[in-house]
Amino acid sequence: EKGRTPLMAGNWKMNLNHLEAIAHVQKLAFALSDKDYEAVEVAVMPAFTALRSVQTLIDGDKLKIKYGAQDVSAHDSGAYTGEVSGSMLSKLKCTYVIVGHSERRQYHAETDELCNAKVKAAYRHGMTPILCVGEGLDIRKAGQQVPYTLGQLEGSLKDIPAEQAESIVIAYEPVWAIGTGEVATPEDAQEVCGAIRGRLAELYSPELADKVRIQYGGSVKSGNVAAIMAQPDVDGALVGGAALDADEFVKIVRFRD
Ligand code: PEP
Repeated sequence: EKGRTPLMAGNWKMNLNHLEAIAHVQKLAFALSDKDYEAVEVAVMPAFTALRSVQTLIDGDKLKIKYGAQDVSAHDSGAYTGEVSGSMLSKLKCTYVIVGHSERRQYHAETDELCNAKVKAAYRHGMTPILCVGEGLDIRKAGQQVPYTLGQLEGSLKDIPAEQAESIVIAYEPVWAIGTGEVATPEDAQEVCGAIRGRLAELYSPELADKVRIQYGGSVKSGNVAAIMAQPDVDGALVGGAALDADEFVKIVRFRD
């Protein structure tokens, strides 16, 4: 065992309205038991419109499922039409905020500089960022996945003090593996996750790097999760498609079985 509690997080993306979200959390809550929550931290990332309903359910029934948002504004308030602030999300008791998901980087041109501002926004409001990094297919083919991903990491962590960085979650998500059914091999995942931990040790300290959880994301399913989790520097998964099927997500949480 690695001394870090694995984090299995479901990124629902633009799926599940608030009624569907409640039904889905109820299914997870019905299936999961204290034994599961002792071994693994479980989190869901609904759409903004479902966060209030999910909060009410989880709070009201004292469920041990954590939740968070898929994005956060870099700004705290003001004339930013369509954006949602960190204070709004922390008021909903979000534990996590995904920052820099590849779909945000691709379709909304999010840069490392903006991700850095969003990481700061998350911490300003007492939430934990799940910072996504990872290379596209062209960079993988050129064998540049490690320097490219470490560049994203450093750019997104600029001026983040150790007291904050020690709680961050990094999700290594090779873009070519997201939603494609093409999962990285455990060795591919380990190569980059190990390099991420190494860079955290250089940027901060080996002690801090040892605490940080690094997830793998990209076509994780119940059938491939165990081999990936067996890697020394993989501490969980950020799960897209497979998280929309409650039974499948529960199997992912129970990756040790
Ligand atoms: C994701 O979007 O974070 C992801 C990993 O998606 P999928 O599991 O569907 O590849």
